[in-house]
Order: sequence, then C-alpha cells, then structure tokens
Amino acid sequence: MEAASLAKKADGAVDRDVLLSIDDLHIWFELKRFGFGHAGYVKAVDGVTFDVLKGETIAVVGESGCGKSSLMKAILALHKPTKGSITFDGKKLSELDDKAMRQYHFEVGYVQQDPYGALPPFMSVQRILEEPLIVGGVKDKQERLDRVCKAMEEVKLTPVNDFLSKYPHMLSGGQQQRVVIARAMIMNPKFLVADEPVSMLDASVRVEILKLLRNLQEEHHLSVIYITHDLSTVSYFSERIFVMYAGNLVEKGSVRQILDNPYHPYTKALLTGTSEPDAKNAETYKELPPGEPPSLVNPPSGCHFHPRCPVAIKGLCEVTYPPEFEPEPGHLVSCWLYQDKDNVKR
Ligand code: SF4
Repeated sequence: MEAASLAKKADGAVDRDVLLSIDDLHIWFELKRFGFGHAGYVKAVDGVTFDVLKGETIAVVGESGCGKSSLMKAILALHKPTKGSITFDGKKLSELDDKAMRQYHFEVGYVQQDPYGALPPFMSVQRILEEPLIVGGVKDKQERLDRVCKAMEEVKLTPVNDFLSKYPHMLSGGQQQRVVIARAMIMNPKFLVADEPVSMLDASVRVEILKLLRNLQEEHHLSVIYITHDLSTVSYFSERIFVMYAGNLVEKGSVRQILDNPYHPYTKALLTGTSEPDAKNAETYKELPPGEPPSLVNPPSGCHFHPRCPVAIKGLCEVTYPPEFEPEPGHLVSCWLYQDKDNVKR
C-alpha cells in the first residue's frame, strides 16, 4: 500500500498496518438550475488517494474551499463518494450494513471546529458525555459515570465535580473544546478526525489543545487526520502532511520534507510568513498566494494552480494536469517542474 511504503522510504521506520485507505475518491455535488435541470458539478474532491497507518497522524492542509471539509465528511461517512472508495480496517464503507456503520461511527471520533456550536446548549457536561455511551448500549449508570469522569480527567477538565453539572455556556472556549475532545474519545475510537480544532480558540489556548491532542494520540495509539488551513500548527503532532488544492492533493511528504524542503509552488507560498501559533504571534498567514482559490465548478484547465503560479511553464501547465512525481523518496508532488528527477528545482 502507498502509505506503508512511504513510511518506510521516508524515515526508515518499520511498516505499520494501514487503518484507513482512500482510493481515487471523488466527491461531486450536482448543481441544478431552476427550470433547466443539470447545470454542472461542484468537484469538491476530485481523485484523492492516500492511506493512513495505525497510530499515524496526517495533516491535510489547504485554504478554505480547497475541498478538505468534504474529504473529512466523506471519511465520517456523511458524504457518499461519487467515485472511488474508503476502506477502514479492511472493510469498504460502502459495503457496511447499519449495524456495522454504527460501530464505525464509534471507532471514528470527531473533533469539530466550533466547540460551542458542537455542544447541545441544553445538556450538562455529564449528559453530553453520557450520550454516546447510552447510544452505544452501556446500560450501567455507574459504569457510564466512571467513563465520563475518566474521559474528563484525560482532557484535564478537573476537578471533575466542578464541571459535571455545568452547561456549555458556562465554560470558556478552551474548556468547551476539551468537552468536545472528551466526547470524541469516550467510545475508545481507533481514529480521530480533527477539523481545524484550534482555529476558533484564543491564541493562548491553541498550543495547549494541540498538545492535549498529541498526548491522547500517543497514549491511545490513535490514527488522526488533522484538517487545517494553518501549516504553522502541523508540526505539533503530525507525521506527514498532505497539501490540498482545488479538490486534489498536490504535495505529500513527511513533516520535515514539507516544512523544510517544500516543492510545490503553492506549498511554498503557504509557508511564506507562517508563524508559530502562540500568544505573541496570533497571525498565521501574512502572505497568501496571489489571487483567489479557484472555483470548484469550473477549475482552471491543466494544473489548477497555473493562474496563480509564478513559475508556470507556458504551453504545458495550462493544458495538462501534472501526474504525481517523486523527486525524493516518500516526497510526492503534482507539478511539472519535477518531471525530470535530475533537474529538481527548489
Ligand atoms: Fe506551477 Fe506548472 Fe507546477 Fe502547476 S504544474 S504548480 S502551474 S509549475
């Protein structure tokens, strides 16, 4: 499998088993014009392939509107693939029956971007955390309470008794996000999808929440997909980075390969001016690539980045979409600049 071989080539690590496998995934949404019927497709995800290994953390990075949220929702089985497949622990999601799908939802935890919006305002913390256990068939009240308290301790919502009866509006943004994380963890998932988990938090608590997620990942040997627009936060707990642009992954590599030696002109532009996500430096991108992210209905021909690319090759880039090249082991890039391995430009 692709990721297993990448892990070996990139860092010499021992192969680990694949947990999640995405194969040629397309998520297209049909557009209909009133009275005229079919009017095209929004190609939110347009042929994405990758694997996530057991215990591995992947960051998917890109600007708003690049398709990363649709990719995440497909992994959560909230969007049906138009084409391609998602396989989890050896089973295709499209072939799961209702019971198996319910089990899948217990095995995949979800940390939302907006903690306040993600928590029901009329439920106490205890009730919010008990809910998945009740749905999951944990009938014993004391067992539920024990598991709720354990989850709260793990996310450092302590002393537990001070928080059990509180409602979301009585908590700070950081505390709300800890409740969201505790809820994602309470069914002992194998996999966590973290959708911009710190982007709506004060700069002062972002690092704490990222460190908490990293500790949970390590302690529980979780696989994680961390969705973010912010490359400055990925080194906190990601092993590999996938850069997404206009529905496609344009660069894949280890954190060090992407942060220290990015190849794709889009990745280079994203990295320009990126700063640390601490309290002193709340700004992330000071300099975004020039121009607007393209429409996903009618993306530019050829390489979708060509209208914004300062080094586009005339007669080639605007005509033909580049395949994936591997200029160094484990570092893949969809860019015509790297078609000749002996002529790698940085
Ligand atoms: Fe730029 Fe061409 Fe590479 Fe696209 S394929 S990023 S347009 S050089």
